[in-house]
Amino acid sequence: MASLLESGWQYLTTNFSDFQLATFGTFIIHESVFFLSGIPSIFLERSGLFSEYKIQKKVNTPAAQWRCIVKLVLYHVFVNLPIMVLSYPAFRYMGLKSSLPLPPWPVVLSQVIFYFILEDFVFYWGHRMLHTKWLYQHVHSVHHEYATPFGLTSEYAHPAEILMLGFGTVLGPALTGPHLFTLWLWMSLRVIETVEAHSGYDFPWSPSKFLPLYGGAEFHDFHHRVLYTQSGNYSSTFTYMDWLFGTDRDYWKQKALEGKNGKDF
Ligand SMILES: [Zn+2]
Ligand SMILES: [Zn+2]
Repeated sequence: MASLLESGWQYLTTNFSDFQLATFGTFIIHESVFFLSGIPSIFLERSGLFSEYKIQKKVNTPAAQWRCIVKLVLYHVFVNLPIMVLSYPAFRYMGLKSSLPLPPWPVVLSQVIFYFILEDFVFYWGHRMLHTKWLYQHVHSVHHEYATPFGLTSEYAHPAEILMLGFGTVLGPALTGPHLFTLWLWMSLRVIETVEAHSGYDFPWSPSKFLPLYGGAEFHDFHHRVLYTQSGNYSSTFTYMDWLFGTDRDYWKQKALEGKNGKDF
């Protein structure tokens, strides 16, 4: 692994404790990746730039965007951060380490791919449960307040949902006891993936255009814009779970109609 990366890591482990890196370090990395990747879609909505790639015609008001940002900051500070601090002993027990040398890339990448596949499976079933009547009304309807999603709405959810679906995010790392570097890379890629899925824009350069079985913005946008009992498309990252269990039928029907009539949302 590149020596520049190892020198940077050396600096971190010399100046900060394992606890500080795994908790506050993880929090800072999460906030940076989340807001840096999520804020551009707010500016695109406001400016009207690239409107030809916007999936829905409707745009969110600045007040609705601000409400989302304020609630997110509160949830992150008062829910996510305490969870990171409280779960540190469990991660240590599961084998989380931060010392040099950094793991080789084949190990890092195979672990991250495993985390994506496992998280998608857990998320699919958890999300399907959240679309049952009681759980939807009391928990998941918060995430669906935004029928026209923008990047930052990806983490806009009831605290109980953050806990429930966050389980899928930490399950893979908990099973494999990764290096903190791998954990940060996984978290960053997962955040970028879900922010893109909620961005509201389907660009010609979106990952779904190049990666087979990848869901992306158009796939998840459909989930937000239709009635909760008919939404389908429950997966977080891939499309095959919805295909296997037949929960993507309405989406493909709608796509076929769009093909006939031209896009009109
Ligand atoms: Zn949902
Ligand atoms: Zn969503």
